[in-house]
Amino acid sequence: MDELPLQTPARFLPGVGPVRAECLARLGIETVEDLLWHLPRDLVDLSEVRRVGELEPEILQTVRGEVVELDDRRISGGRRMSSVTIDSGDGFLKATWFNQSWVLGRVQHGSAVLFSGKPKRRAGRWEMTHPRLQVIDADDLEAHGGLLPKYALTDGVTMEAMRRITRDVADRFIEHVSDPLPESWLKRFDVVGLSDALAGVHRPDSVEAYHAARRRLIFDDLLEFLLGLALRRRAWRASGRAPRLPVTAKIDSRIRRRFPFELTSGQDRAVEEIAADMARDHAMHRLLQADVGAGKTAVALYAMLVAVAAGHQAVLMAPTELLARQHWQTIEELLRGSRVERVLLTGNLTAAQRRKTLERISSGEDLLVVGTHAVIQQDVEFKSLGLAVIDEQHKFGVMQRSQFARDDASQTPHVLVMTATPIPRSLCLTQFGDLDVTTIDDLPPGRQPVVTSVVRDKTTRDKAWQFVREQVLAGRQAFVVCPRIDAGEETGEGMGVEQTCQRLRENELSGVAVGLVHGRLDVDDKTRAMQEFRDGATRVLVATTVVEVGVDVPNATVMVVYQAERFGLSQLHQLRGRIGRGSYQGYCFLLAGRQDESAATRLDVLDEHTDGFSVAEADFLLRGPGDVLGVRQHGELPLRVADLIVDRDLLEETRTIAFDLVQSGEIDGESAERLRDRVLERFGELMELPRTG
Ligand code: ADP
Ligand code: MG
Repeated sequence: MDELPLQTPARFLPGVGPVRAECLARLGIETVEDLLWHLPRDLVDLSEVRRVGELEPEILQTVRGEVVELDDRRISGGRRMSSVTIDSGDGFLKATWFNQSWVLGRVQHGSAVLFSGKPKRRAGRWEMTHPRLQVIDADDLEAHGGLLPKYALTDGVTMEAMRRITRDVADRFIEHVSDPLPESWLKRFDVVGLSDALAGVHRPDSVEAYHAARRRLIFDDLLEFLLGLALRRRAWRASGRAPRLPVTAKIDSRIRRRFPFELTSGQDRAVEEIAADMARDHAMHRLLQADVGAGKTAVALYAMLVAVAAGHQAVLMAPTELLARQHWQTIEELLRGSRVERVLLTGNLTAAQRRKTLERISSGEDLLVVGTHAVIQQDVEFKSLGLAVIDEQHKFGVMQRSQFARDDASQTPHVLVMTATPIPRSLCLTQFGDLDVTTIDDLPPGRQPVVTSVVRDKTTRDKAWQFVREQVLAGRQAFVVCPRIDAGEETGEGMGVEQTCQRLRENELSGVAVGLVHGRLDVDDKTRAMQEFRDGATRVLVATTVVEVGVDVPNATVMVVYQAERFGLSQLHQLRGRIGRGSYQGYCFLLAGRQDESAATRLDVLDEHTDGFSVAEADFLLRGPGDVLGVRQHGELPLRVADLIVDRDLLEETRTIAFDLVQSGEIDGESAERLRDRVLERFGELMELPRTG
């Protein structure tokens, strides 16, 4: 079918013209096609709308009527009171606004309007104060049979105008829309055709038809995205061979002897799955997720030693310098007396050290490398990289996966990605949908959940500090976490990390050795502060979230978080995962800074749930995907209609369909050509998909 008419500029449409076209352009709308894809955000169902005679007091309702009286007057205190009375055929309702005379400009005698608000009955008459006012166009109403789509608007385009334009476009151009899905798939996947879907959202015949239409659009949105991931996964598998890194019984027991503990059954299972991947000659792309403290490092080290035992290199990349050092230290301890060659590569080596290290990496065979993500991706050339472990991936953003420079381009390393905290399932499917997933679902034995309390008042706060002192006297250590380095305008308590530290030294924690670490210190100072805390020279460490991920000091049993409501729940869970790692019970005090009730209620989730999987789900439902992934996440998910929370079921379904289509090769068939093109058009560049299937 001829799709060219869809490219007609919006300004040529009746009722648009150059001025409105400019307004539309602010919404990203240039063409007829853009208008068709300017989907309503919601639907007003006028069958739900009441008449005055049906109203109930004090409940939010929408009433429809015709304007019969307008009034605007000055009242006491220089205020203005404006009112609009409507008649719904069986009674009158008077709506009143204060100092909002502009509402009168939107209506006139005879206008059909909707008021949404909580009505009151006063002196035998119904009234509403400051209701939401919507003007409806009588023709509009007729054309839509009582179902009114609601659109995102911009100045210069009213809802009525937008409805008229989109309806007009749907009437005249819908036949030019071609469906990326082959006809026979519509039945198979139980979706309506694309032109029916687009027509169905702009001019729905029924609420059911509207939802079926939306479902198709969401289906496409998700299917195309997940097909992109499935194709990327296939491309990885096909591209270059990875070295086979088999584990013999001898290697296995030699590695296990390195750990001062038995692996948990969850760790065992993870190790098994990873070893099976690494024994194959196509590259592993696996995500390892587990609760905080489940022991991912041991699993990562196991995998790295497998690579080294097979005569290859392995690299462990951490998101920060601090964490890279921390991993290095752990690995050094575990490998003490071992002949395994290893190097630490971070940003603050001298030029000479750096040159030497890089040379070792580019010439050495079996070598274990630890470093920061940034440093390693910049300019390191590996001689024979067999395995790359990427720690705390979700700080790096979704779409970039690692690239490794190798002298032998035909070989690619196995890749293991580790997340800091568990990821809710729907996020996992989208963010990491191209990876195989291993979940460690248990914790090392003897681990007690951290006792968490939300502290709201001064008395409890004093008690908390008293408790911290007692723990320190008993030989334990404590973290104090502040949300920011600098004091904020509000200068609520404990805003700046340095100020807080100073205050604690002088007051609550006088006589206690208190250390300080934050992101703006230079690397040496940071390292020193961490080392002093690890060694026990300082008993309390005041810090920003540099301690958030991975820092492991088993003797630390208490954590106090200032202004806890400023953090995400998963982040707080990650933070409290820093304590109670040894054999002592851990305690976490979340100081609620402001009397923001919803924020404080959110914190109660941490009191109620001790495992990170439930915390992650709760966080996701409360705050949505963007926040859960953290501010450092680079791109939002490139979805345009689907909502990961609302459309979770459809996500599961489309994920299965997408992966089946790729696995069966159907996606390469002639009938899927248009769908393939759409996937490439939307995600080809972003996901670095190969041009040909
Ligand atoms: P995370 O998964 O949060 O990265 P870590 O790898 O830092 O967890 O491990 C947390 C702590 O648990 C470390 O102190 C580690 O030595 C310890 N640990 C890991 N595995 C076990 C095990 N199987 N038995 C006992 N302790 C373990
Ligand atoms: Mg870790």
